Amino acid sequence: MDETNLLMRVDRLTTNFHTYAGVVHAVDDMTLTIPKDSVVGIVGESGSGKSVTMMSVMRLIPSPPGRIEGGHVWFDGAALGMPDRMEKDGPNKGMVDLLSLPADAMMKVRGRHIGMIFQDPMVSLNPVLTIGLQMTESMVAHGLATNEEAWKRAVDMLALVGIPNPEERMRDYPHQYSGGMRQRVMIAMALSCSPELVIADEPTTSLDVTVQAQILELMKELKAKLKSSIIIISHDLSIVAGIANKVVVMYAGRILEEADVYDLYEKPGHPYTMGLMKSVPRLDAENRERLVPIEGSPPDLLAPPVGCKFAPRCKYAMNICREQEPPLVTVGEGHRARCFLHHPTAPAVPGFVKVG
Ligand code: SF4
Repeated sequence: MDETNLLMRVDRLTTNFHTYAGVVHAVDDMTLTIPKDSVVGIVGESGSGKSVTMMSVMRLIPSPPGRIEGGHVWFDGAALGMPDRMEKDGPNKGMVDLLSLPADAMMKVRGRHIGMIFQDPMVSLNPVLTIGLQMTESMVAHGLATNEEAWKRAVDMLALVGIPNPEERMRDYPHQYSGGMRQRVMIAMALSCSPELVIADEPTTSLDVTVQAQILELMKELKAKLKSSIIIISHDLSIVAGIANKVVVMYAGRILEEADVYDLYEKPGHPYTMGLMKSVPRLDAENRERLVPIEGSPPDLLAPPVGCKFAPRCKYAMNICREQEPPLVTVGEGHRARCFLHHPTAPAVPGFVKVG
């Protein structure tokens, strides 16, 4: 990819939780690139490591028991305005490693350069502060505006996300908003400091289906207007399909597949992705297809299986799958998959191109 267009590169990130029962390998050697002005979807079942990856990027992993034990999170140094912390040479020239920033410098990154939209706005918003106070706090704390300017900007942001009578609603408390309206407030808050990157962690999960569609539509409109990149995390492939340019499929703390959104839907290259697609309804399907759940459960991350982490649930599993971990191989332009069925000597299975 064009390196001048790179906003963030998560490079071999490893995050573990040290519990009394043992070490939980929540994120294992994760590498991910986020271009400027893009929407990247991260999909996977609960416990796949998608949220832990993003909490690691924000350095919000509770410690103990969590610990980031390897890797880097490179972010565009020019956007951060930290020229003295930029890499001078090499593949990360011009980038700043967020994991090596002092705590006070990292606080300036959160909210200002990376905004976050959480799953449940009722839990994320402070119930005893007005929406106006919560909306303006971040802008004032980052020195972007005076109280008066922040108030005006917050009113504009509420109007932008479709809150009627925004000036009056600034004086209301979170419980006076509906669930969908609270999520609109969370989006307005995340965007209020014009961050280069917004991380939306299951932003529609706590909402009913019609409100979900409105929120996704709103995020698409705002993306076009405000030019932030977005990472959207979801367990639902169909939600990501409607908004993302690129999709990353995670399982047991690893990337199993990564591709342009059209490529992934047209030519999925991993049995797990194929399983996810068969388990959600497709609006473009010509016939009514039966939905098929993926049998079994995700592995216990305290003692993950040797070899391919998906092998216990995979109908194509071969002997090698239970002995060795498959590498992530390139199976098309910008398309990578972690499956031995792409190996030239593997049995021919429709949909799996041979590489290498
Ligand atoms: Fe299935 Fe083997 Fe591919 Fe893993 S590597 S997904 S077990 S075929």
